[in-house]
Amino acid sequence: MNITGSTRVLGVFGHPVSHSLSPVMHNAAIRALGLDFVYVPFHVLPENLEKAVNGIRALDIAGVNVTIPHKERIIKFLDEVSENARRIGSVNTVINERGRLRGESTDGAGFLRSAEAVWGKIGGKVVILGAGGSAKAVAYALGDAGCEVVIANRTFDRAMELAQALKAAFGADKSRAVGLGGDDLEREIRGADLLVNTTSVGMHPHSDGIPISPELIGAGLKVYDLVYNPLETRLVREARANGAEAMTGLGMLIHQGAVSFEMWTGQNAPVEVMAKSVEHIMSGEL
Ligand code: NAP
Repeated sequence: MNITGSTRVLGVFGHPVSHSLSPVMHNAAIRALGLDFVYVPFHVLPENLEKAVNGIRALDIAGVNVTIPHKERIIKFLDEVSENARRIGSVNTVINERGRLRGESTDGAGFLRSAEAVWGKIGGKVVILGAGGSAKAVAYALGDAGCEVVIANRTFDRAMELAQALKAAFGADKSRAVGLGGDDLEREIRGADLLVNTTSVGMHPHSDGIPISPELIGAGLKVYDLVYNPLETRLVREARANGAEAMTGLGMLIHQGAVSFEMWTGQNAPVEVMAKSVEHIMSGEL
């Protein structure tokens, strides 16, 4: 990569940020297409977020990704926020349009693109485990795709709140909430086409965790676990052992990055190159 006087800067705001896979993934894409961009990590403390956002304008940074813990709070410092980011209350991509900063969320599109790249068109009934930030992004993307979405969460009130919002957006028959244990969840999973885990259960270093009993997973179900560290979670392992098709969240990570990349550069993202760069790091790390 040749940095010159005309090189445009992209980056990621996070705290912590040193674990982020985005710099490797985006720089691999930039190199593959021979673009005059560079992507760098910015360690932004919560108390410095507003100044950092002003820095995007002052330094004419072309765009940034936004990660934990800034995805919600950054909204108030931006000039414009897309309808999709507004409804899920979270921004993971900022685009600098001649000094005007626009916030977008590419998580839902990244999830759907990655699932459809493997399984083809996603439809029917989906059970989502969890009701946090990623659950919202995934649930709205599935709602847009015409799916019926059942939310199951440990804290039932949060499941109810998300299901209510989905009903308001997509229709009363398009969503409902159930608890994380019990017969209702069992019944919903038996009639589902896809099960998506958006809880952090099973994530390194607690990789023996599993959000539901594996007995609930039958051979006809598709299982998507958003957790990507470890590369094969216990949920995915048990689902495959039961004859179900299952995937972890690495695909979503790559595709949400690809959508951001396309917004900044206007070029089709080299998804295969991005995937190889991330898989290379993950296999060395684990
Ligand atoms: P979040 O907003 O903090 O939500 C966490 C969710 O997990 C909540 O629904 C919470 O339930 C549930 N939860 C946490 N511990 C639990 C436990 N012990 N038992 C049952 N439920 C539990 O987090 P998030 O941003 O949505 O992220 C969740 C996971 O998705 C993380 O592992 C993250 O790495 C992964 N993720 C992956 C991608 C990707 O690109 N693949 C993107 C985003 C997130 P309560 O409401 O009851 O607390």
